[in-house]
This record gives sequence, C-alpha cells and structure tokens, in this order.
Amino acid sequence: MGQRRLKEVKKDDVKKRPDVRKKTGNAVLDATKTRKGEVIHAKKRMTEDVKVRTSQHIIDIPVNKSIYNGYEGQQYSPAIDKHKKRNNQPRLRVIPIGGCGEMGIGKNMTALEYDNEIIVIDMGFIFPGEADYPGINYIVPDISYLEENRQKIKAVIFTHAHLDHIGAFRHLIAKIPAPVYATRFTIGMLKKNFDESHDNYEPKYIEMNPENHDRQQLSDNFSIEMVRVNHSIPDSASLIIRTPVGTIYHAGDWRIEKEPVDARAFDFARISEVQQKEGFILMLNESTNVESEGRHGGQQGHGEYDIKASFGQIMDKFPNSRIIVSSFSSQVYRIQTMIDEASAHGRKVAFAGFSLLQNVEVALKAGILKIPKNTIMKMDEIIKQPDSKVCIICTGSQGEFNAVLSRMASGAHKYIKIKNSDIIVFSSNPIPGNETSVTRVVDGLMREGSDVLQNRKTAQYGVGPLHLSGHAYFEEHVELISLVNPKYYMPIHGEFHMLANNAELAEKSAGVKKENIFICDTGDVLEIYLDGTAKKAGRILVGGVMYDDSGEVVSEVVLKDRIHMSTEGIFVVIVTVQRGTGRLLSSPDIISRGFIYLRDSEELMNNVRQYLRQKVATSYKGGRKDIEKLKNELRDDVTQILYDQTQRTPIVIPVINEIGAPMKAPANAPQPQRQPVRPRQTIRRPATTAPEESAMANMRKPITNPGAISFKRKPIGPSAGGLWSK
Ligand SMILES: [Zn+2]
Ligand SMILES: [Zn+2]
Repeated sequence: MGQRRLKEVKKDDVKKRPDVRKKTGNAVLDATKTRKGEVIHAKKRMTEDVKVRTSQHIIDIPVNKSIYNGYEGQQYSPAIDKHKKRNNQPRLRVIPIGGCGEMGIGKNMTALEYDNEIIVIDMGFIFPGEADYPGINYIVPDISYLEENRQKIKAVIFTHAHLDHIGAFRHLIAKIPAPVYATRFTIGMLKKNFDESHDNYEPKYIEMNPENHDRQQLSDNFSIEMVRVNHSIPDSASLIIRTPVGTIYHAGDWRIEKEPVDARAFDFARISEVQQKEGFILMLNESTNVESEGRHGGQQGHGEYDIKASFGQIMDKFPNSRIIVSSFSSQVYRIQTMIDEASAHGRKVAFAGFSLLQNVEVALKAGILKIPKNTIMKMDEIIKQPDSKVCIICTGSQGEFNAVLSRMASGAHKYIKIKNSDIIVFSSNPIPGNETSVTRVVDGLMREGSDVLQNRKTAQYGVGPLHLSGHAYFEEHVELISLVNPKYYMPIHGEFHMLANNAELAEKSAGVKKENIFICDTGDVLEIYLDGTAKKAGRILVGGVMYDDSGEVVSEVVLKDRIHMSTEGIFVVIVTVQRGTGRLLSSPDIISRGFIYLRDSEELMNNVRQYLRQKVATSYKGGRKDIEKLKNELRDDVTQILYDQTQRTPIVIPVINEIGAPMKAPANAPQPQRQPVRPRQTIRRPATTAPEESAMANMRKPITNPGAISFKRKPIGPSAGGLWSK
C-alpha cells in the first residue's frame, strides 16, 4: 500500500539470468529454463491470491482510520490500549459479534455485557456469493468469545425474522443456551429454522408484544421492551434496553410507513415518551440505505400500498394473461397485497416454492396473513383455469438457480410452461451481486416469449413501483435519530462505507456530537461507564464459520484448495513401484483436471513421464527411500516442469504405490534401477476417451497379486482426499 509501482512490470531478461541452478542429473528437469525462485514466486503469488479471496470472513485488526473510530482517527493497535488510562468503574461493553464493516450485509449479532451478564441480540448469517466462496452456502458468526463466557449469557433477543438476523440460530443457540425473546411471527420463523438443527437442545421461547410495551427483566442488570417498527417482514421490532449505565435504543431493521399493510404503526410515541422520561445513552442504528436520499413513498409515504396499486394496474392492463409474480419469500405483506388484488380481479392464487410455502404457513399460524375464501388453489388445479383467472406467486426473484422462476425460464417446471401471453412480475430488486443471475432468468423468460416487468424498468407498461426496500432512506434516519436523540451513537448493520456515511449523517444532519459517534468493526468493543463516559476498548476474537448446503462446516483449507483448483486445476502423478527395489511396475500415470487437456499436450506429458522414470530410478538407487521426502521432491520438480512449460501452477499431487514385499535381488540379477522401463505403447483410442480417463481406468483396475501388504488410505491433509502409499 502506498508504494510506488512501475507502470509496466519489467519482464525477466532470459539472457541476463545467471544460470546458477545445480544440475540435478535429471535430463527433463535440467532442461527447464525457469529458475527455481521464479516458480517459488509464482506459487507464492497464487497462495496470496487465494488467501485474499478466502480470508474475507477472517477478521484480524481491520484498518479503520475514520475520524469516528474512537481513537481520533488513529489506527487501533493493541499497543494503544496500554497507553490509555484504565477506567476501573463498572462498565457496559457493547460488542458487535458480526455485521459491522464486513463484506456484504449479514451475520448481524451484537452482545451487551455488564459485570457477569451478557445478552445477545440477533444471530444472523451471510450468503457469501458463489464466485468468491465456491461451495459455501452461508457463513455464521464465530462466537468463540461468547462460548468462553457461556455461563454469563442470560438472554438471546431477536428483532425480526430475516435470515441476516436469525439464519445462524440453529447452529448457535445450543452452544450458548439462553431463553429466546421475540415477537410471535419471529418465534414461528425461529422454530422453522431450528427444525433443521441436529441438536437435541430445546430452546425456550418467550413471546413479546410490542404493542403492549411489556417489559421483560432478563437478568439483574438488563431488561428489554420491544417497540414496533415497519420493515419488509411482519412483526419487526426495535428494542429499548435498560442497563445500569442508561437506556439503549437498538433500532433493528426499519423503515417508516404512514400506512403499513398490517396497520401497526411505527411507535414514535413510545420512543418519544422514553426519551423524555429517561433519555437514551446509546443508539445502535442500521446503515443499509443511509446513502439513498429521500424517504419511502416520497412525501406521501404510502409504501406498500403503492405496490398494491401497481399490481392492480397490471391486472387491469392484461386481463387475459396469466400473471406470475415473484418476490422475496419473507415479504408476507407483499404476498397479502397480491392476494387481495388478485381476489379483487377475480383471480385464483397458487404458491410455488418451498420457502414461500413455509413462510405462508408461519404467517397464517401467527394470524398475520389473511386469505379471502376460495382464493387459494394448488398448482395442479390452477393450471386448469382459464388464463384470466390465474395468478401465481413464486420464488426465484434473485435468479436463484434452483428456484421456481429459474425452472420456468428453462422449461424445467413441472406445471408451468411459459407462453407468450404470460406476464411475469419481479416484485424485488436484485441484491448487489445477484444482477447477472437475475438477468439470465429474465432473458430466459423473454426468450420464451413472455413479458417481464421489473421494478424501475416499467416505462413501456405504465405501471407504478413494483418493489420497496425494507430499509429507511436518509431523511427517515434523520427523523428517527433526532427523535431518539442519543448521547452516543453507533452505526451497525452495514459495510464499512455504509457505517461511515451513517456516522456522518448522525453528526451533520441529526446533531450527534462527533466525539460521541463510534464506528465499530465486528469485534471492536465500546465501553460505557457508570459516570456516563464512553470509549473504545480493544477487540475480541471474531470471524466466521463456513457451512455448505448440507449444513456441515467447511474448513479454511478445503476452501483454499477449491479456489486454487478452480483457477489452476489439479495434476496428479502416480508411480507404481516394487517395494524395496523401486522398479517401476508400469508407466507413470497422469491425471489432470482443469489444468490442460492431456490429449493436446502429449509432449509435456511425455516429458513428465520421462522425468518420473529417471527420478524414481535414481531415488531408489541404494535401497529403501524415504517416501515422504520423495513425494515432496516429486511435487516440487513436477511443479517446476509444468510452470516452465505453461506458466501455471496447478495443485500437484504425487502418489507412490509400493507393491510387494521387499525382495532381495539375486546377486547376479541386473540392477533393477538401471533397467530401462519399457515405455508404454501409445494406443490409439477412440476420440471420446481422453487419456486422463484411461489413467483413471488404470487406477481402478484390481491388483491381481498385491503380495502381503494392504493398502491403507492415508489422509495428507483435510482436503486432499486419500493417498495410496506404504
Ligand atoms: Zn437485516
Ligand atoms: Zn431485515
């Protein structure tokens, strides 16, 4: 960072290279032109690249020189703490365990600690994106700190049921068992989430009703009250948390709607009342849309009803078409407005998609979704209806590969084959990172001839907005922060740029003092003392734990290998030798995947084989060889040969099969090492069989006379799979 870089990297001048490499005696290796150092550099570069891509969830000490960082813009280091005067008063510690200043928005989780008590707010996860994290489904917060302090944990509170707030529940709650506090719908969703857990643990749920302003004493030092907010999922709440140092307002996820679909208004009155009676020492506020100007629904602030009106317009304009609407499956209010509008236009509604059906079930149980009689039909029934009577609500608005919309676009859906009279509505915006998948699905649907209406792309159809974000815009933030009027302010729930803009908004537009605003990265600790002072106080260990789609943890090493393989490929060399003598029993086999196509690279393969023959012969000269050492040498040398020829560094895995009991060679027998191994004849194969496949076939061949040894599978690392040796 900050170093000067040459505009163009100077190429290594071959003529100027001093050839200081020691001759190895191996003809192939000695013929390579690349210096060993160059290969080591190339490998290092690769390792670094992989590390950067896989370490986005590993949080060490993040760079944070913001003027709001709590250290007057100075970068934090553990040394800073030593110089600070220690404050020995009792303190409240506010610790973001996830969701602050990380890539993407997700894994939201905050802990509040006072004396011997900790309460935890939310347990979210994050979808990391397939490009950077191949095969990783989601990442949950690393809760080592909380596990170490397990006995202190008194309560886990959930603000609402979005996955970035409850997604990690099933993985974490049994590790830090404590009573769970949430609203009715959120508890329904938590129970669904926990159904997929393998733990025997039975969470204890305590339902709270924000409308009642009921207060729950969580422990000696903490009590909470839930306050109604508007958001894009039902039954969302913010929290008033009373602590010995003062009252805290945790805003949850929110937006302001003048006319919420469920008629449960944002409870400004209660916030104002508590503000006047008690005042707020600290406000924790989400940062998602602080960078977007204005407010929801413009100055009228209609919100969801604008979208309901747009659905009506579509049904009026296309009375004879089937209407297929896709949205986020947790958007229960959106689903409600669609059902109402369909019913008003004499259409029947069918749901398609697993998560959608699950959420509808929870919403019905919680009494949140109200369905008019004779409106809902099953998929196999609705397709028998005339097009003018059909409305289908489905999943897949983010272009998810396996979701309903994607299957319709590819013609793979069991019931719905798209026709050119169909109208498909995306009642959503692509989440950043999903744009290409969404476009792929939209193109697929339009290729089938249907019309696709996307939010903000409806110019030619003349309909209103089709989606509304669940998160407040700039002016709404100014309004709420001004109302809460906290002494201290901490932006949460956002990437670093969002946190920074949120901090600036609080200072410049909502009147919070600059020195009282703290941008915390995940792991930073903010301490508030009994005398009302506050300061940043070091860090705790945080990070992420990766899970695949079967719900199993994926280790760092596995991910690194996946990424390395996905960019450079894998190259396996297999030599089968007689135990003791080292005589090659067959021509060395080579398997390559994702590196180069072996059929087109016969010369290189022959070189590698020749190298292996010579290497094995010289290595076994004089008796038994240290297999591990030989394997390392094979790995380095083959990497060198491949890099010399291709400038690429695939993962090289050497496999040595030793077969047969050690034999004493008869004194008069020729030394096996010097016996040239007959090169395997090149057999012309049908064009469909690639040489690497034949190598695989060879591997699978049963060994007819294995002698007195058994083959044991020996792992060489967490991911490298099995290795046949000894
Ligand atoms: Zn959220
Ligand atoms: Zn949310």
